[in-house]
Amino acid sequence: MQPLKIQNTLTGKKELFKSITKGFVGMYVCGPTVYSNVHVGNVRTFMSFDMIYRYLLHIGYKVRYVRNITDAGHLTDDASEDKISTKARLEKLEPMEIVQKYTVDFHKILQKYNLLPPSIEPTATGHIVEQIEAVQQILDAGLAYIVNGSVYFDVLKYNETNNYGILSKRKIEDSIENTRVLEGQSDKKNPQDFALWKRAEPEHIQRWNSPWSQGFPGWHLECTVMSTKYLGEQFDIHGGGMDLKFPHHECEIAQSEACNHKAPVKYWMHTNMLNLNGKKMSKSTGNHILPQEIYTGNNDILSKAFSPSVTRFFMMQAHYSSILDLSNEALLASEKGYNRLMEAIKNLNKLESTSSSTINIEAWKQKCYDAMNDDFNTPILIAHLFEAVKYINLIKDKKESITKQDLEILAETIKVFTYEVLGLTSSLQTNDDSDKLTGVVELLIQLRKEAKENKNYALSDEIRDKLLEKGIQLKDNREGTTFSI
Ligand SMILES: [Zn+2]
Repeated sequence: MQPLKIQNTLTGKKELFKSITKGFVGMYVCGPTVYSNVHVGNVRTFMSFDMIYRYLLHIGYKVRYVRNITDAGHLTDDASEDKISTKARLEKLEPMEIVQKYTVDFHKILQKYNLLPPSIEPTATGHIVEQIEAVQQILDAGLAYIVNGSVYFDVLKYNETNNYGILSKRKIEDSIENTRVLEGQSDKKNPQDFALWKRAEPEHIQRWNSPWSQGFPGWHLECTVMSTKYLGEQFDIHGGGMDLKFPHHECEIAQSEACNHKAPVKYWMHTNMLNLNGKKMSKSTGNHILPQEIYTGNNDILSKAFSPSVTRFFMMQAHYSSILDLSNEALLASEKGYNRLMEAIKNLNKLESTSSSTINIEAWKQKCYDAMNDDFNTPILIAHLFEAVKYINLIKDKKESITKQDLEILAETIKVFTYEVLGLTSSLQTNDDSDKLTGVVELLIQLRKEAKENKNYALSDEIRDKLLEKGIQLKDNREGTTFSI
């Protein structure tokens, strides 16, 4: 079997994976900022690391997976106010009320897409003391300075002895964060410097006491502090979306080096973007979809609702480091593929074994592991799963034969990769329930039809809307009404 290799964005190379402590893996992934609904692109990132987490567990590692919640202001260096406070004033809520609302939403969505919870989900506000200590450490190391109650990391000074740009491969002169700051508005010595602690303006709601001012920590600091606290000064894997590579992850490395004088992470992993209909997603252009709109079908770009498992299958059909384009057509194609896979798994117990095999199942199984060991190559794994679908259909038609033992290996392997590793949920496990559900929905469709015939449109609309709230979409067409769950 091929050993596990990981594309390390720090070195730009695919490297043999060797954990710092044998048998154990420490993995940190930058979590969401909980001031708005989770973006579907973020769902893809978290789903990719969920698959990685699942595979590491499957091959026997004990994994401590830490994914944080950013619930203190997600600020840019020179922002006079942070996003959580802004939203709080707009909606007239306490910041922690906003945080609670969107944390619940985040968990609900991830659960819907069958993501396992991380081992630890620490919050930024729960680690203010540690962040203040880290700022002090960086000040003591002479790599930060105080201006008007705010503390900034001295990037140029750090770069004299270290390499600021080691991850993003940016030169120091190109590493100026793209913030719209008017001349003279910033307290920073150099435009590259970033905030470790910001003094709070009077209107700022979230604030804590510190030796420098009443204020709040810089965004980059929480990940450094929480990863160090739970995984140690050096740990195995740090992940996130590639948009976080600079400045966020570059700053994390600099802060850790300043505090602990060692590189914090062995393998940096970055997931790629999710586009919509060939274009970047953006709320302002309307080229945008929420994760819940995919399974309710409640978005004009979709012809129907797609189940979370179909969407998950669609995402797993691309390598985590490739750009993926979401579209109605792509989801329809994935739905067909997913159904074909489920159908084959259902057919497994109809297969009859014989005294000899005409298929080399061990070699096939090996290829599945080799695909995953090659930097978690899920599209290749899925291609192998479809090879198994072909075998199953041929065996069913008596065109190939298989022994009892090989059949057990085939069934076990296809199920392990489909459910345990890719994290798909079976459309079969709930067959009884789904039959009942279909019956109930058909009954409601009939009642709605009668309501319409009696010109009771309010009731007919209510049935449609209430079903949609539950994720069941009705579509009226010439032949009658169809539904998707
Ligand atoms: Zn982070």
